[in-house]
Amino acid sequence: MKCPYCNEEMKCGYIRSPQEISWRTKKNMLTNIADKSKGDVILSEGNILRGSTLIAYNCSKCKKIIIDYDKSNM
Ligand SMILES: [Zn+2]
Repeated sequence: MKCPYCNEEMKCGYIRSPQEISWRTKKNMLTNIADKSKGDVILSEGNILRGSTLIAYNCSKCKKIIIDYDKSNM
C-alpha cells in the first residue's frame, strides 16, 4: 500500500490489544466497550483467549498508520 501523504510504500504490520480495539467518538475512561449507536466503530472484536489483532500499514516517514477495518479482523 502506498502512503497517501508521501506516496512511499507502507510497511504492513499488526496492532495488538488484550481487549477490543475500537474507534470512538468520545473519550470514555469508564468503559472499553464501543457504543455503535453513538457512531463508534469496532475495529477488532475482543477475544478473551486471543485478544484483538488488526492488520495496519505504517509510514514511518510521515508517522501515519492506516487501518482497513472492513477486512482486517483476524
Ligand atoms: Zn508517508
